[in-house]
Amino acid sequence: MEIGIIAEMPTYSGGLGVLAGDTIRAAADLRVPMVAVTLLHRNGYCHQRIDADGNQTEEVFDWDIEKFLTKQPGTITLHVESTEVEVAVWQYEVEGVGGFRIPVLFLDTDLPGNAPEHRNLTHNLYGGDQRYRLCQEKVLGIGGVRVLRELGYNAIERFHMNEGHASLLVCELLDERRRANKHDVLGDEEIEAVRRLCVFTTHTPVPAGHDKFSRELVNSVLHGRTTELLDQLDCMDDSLNMTYLALNLSHYVNGVAKRHGQVSREMFAPYPIDSITNGVHAARWVAPPMQKVLDAHLASWREDNYTLRTATSIPRHEIWAAHQESKNTLIDHIKTVSGVEFDPEVFTIGFARRAAAYKRADMFYDDLERLLRIHNVVGKIQVVYAGKAHPSDEVGKDIIRRIVHAQKSLAHSIKGVYLADYDIELCHLMAAGVDLWLNTPEPPKEASGTSGMKAALNGIPSLSVLDGWWLEGWIEGQTGWAIGRTNGDAPTPANRHEDAAMLYDKLEYLILPLFYERRTDFIQVMRNCIALNGSFFNTQRMMSQYVLKAYFG
Ligand SMILES: *Cc1c(COP(=O)(O)O)cnc(C)c1O
Repeated sequence: MEIGIIAEMPTYSGGLGVLAGDTIRAAADLRVPMVAVTLLHRNGYCHQRIDADGNQTEEVFDWDIEKFLTKQPGTITLHVESTEVEVAVWQYEVEGVGGFRIPVLFLDTDLPGNAPEHRNLTHNLYGGDQRYRLCQEKVLGIGGVRVLRELGYNAIERFHMNEGHASLLVCELLDERRRANKHDVLGDEEIEAVRRLCVFTTHTPVPAGHDKFSRELVNSVLHGRTTELLDQLDCMDDSLNMTYLALNLSHYVNGVAKRHGQVSREMFAPYPIDSITNGVHAARWVAPPMQKVLDAHLASWREDNYTLRTATSIPRHEIWAAHQESKNTLIDHIKTVSGVEFDPEVFTIGFARRAAAYKRADMFYDDLERLLRIHNVVGKIQVVYAGKAHPSDEVGKDIIRRIVHAQKSLAHSIKGVYLADYDIELCHLMAAGVDLWLNTPEPPKEASGTSGMKAALNGIPSLSVLDGWWLEGWIEGQTGWAIGRTNGDAPTPANRHEDAAMLYDKLEYLILPLFYERRTDFIQVMRNCIALNGSFFNTQRMMSQYVLKAYFG
């Protein structure tokens, strides 16, 4: 549903889309033949504005489609709500380190021949009501397969559904077989053949995060033939659950971190669900100053991210100088956009992610007195935030307001800013320019999280709740620090009060003393982040696992 390739193309809302973009880049690096399909979100995901009081408003993100994408000849048609809708395709090409290219196809229903309510179907990412969403998913799933065929992709060996939004593609694959074999009822063999073609990755450990549509809506939006199929597959009772559709018709299913795999197995028992832990595209996320250092010492790190494992041999002062350069770039940016002057010698904490309730972004400010004491007695801190709330998420917007208010009340001691319009570019600056990457989600709701991996590649340790990828990347005091406890294999129940106290404890007793009094040891932690976590939590490793387990499996 979303792919984030560059900041200028606002066709993503957050982690899911950026991960898709990084996945495609890694496939291009590794020469994995692939073609990606998504929707052309002409209105983009919104621009975010935040006023002095912390109120978020949104603006349409106008972008010049023709500057980035090339329209492909031809269209396909699709039956939506009992009319035919025409779908056009635009293409972008992602190039890997060795020059191998992967096409990304953007589906577009904004054509003069379509009715107004169908022209806008591909305009808004996660906008509109249930009807709008189901129509979009029809364009993506069924339209996606038809567009691929139209463009001559007739020998695709695996269809990888990235989250349940694309699940309807299985209906088109089944229908293709039904048409080819000229009969109405599908045999087990045909269903099995489609299952062999399909792979499904789930990204959401929260039941409410999975798309579900009422039978009534399904009947009015989808073609009779598709609903018959869904009935025959036993995939629909009083509603259609897109996740179950994908689970039923895929021969390989995975979650995006080990813990997430386990949570998904419990949520969707008895389906066998494996896990492949997410990564980020290393060459894309390392900031230019650190790129220079890596180029000088670890020549092949771009083509072969495993090379990063020897980053512990890079002289400490070079790591520090590169980091300080990125920190200054971020500080300049903060001054330009907010007028606030950060101090390059002060310990800087970064927090950037979608402002969704479970991320608990405001937890850092739960105990202002304690925070002030730490700042005054142990070591100075300054804090930079960013993150958009979904336009209709009032709880998320309220969290932003609370953070801005807390920052205001501390303005004379602990500097803090909330930067508007978090996107790939801002993430670049922040994940390289701060001294600590903070993450406080409510476990077990963080499927993986990836921004901490971007920070690690830049030598920046995490202070994070033990959930998602951090359970695998965390070595206490070596790659960062944990908030909360491990509880064997079971998710630890969330306790906000305890978590906040632990956050302050770690800052006060471990992290700030290390930064201010034992700088050499702090830089050792930075090198560990690149060597231990950068060499593993990257999309080259991730893509290799998808190839072995999911595509050749
Ligand atoms: C990496 C990234 C994310 C995802 O970060 P999480 O840690 O998974 O929340 C979201 N938005 C942007 C712009 C990113 O670059």
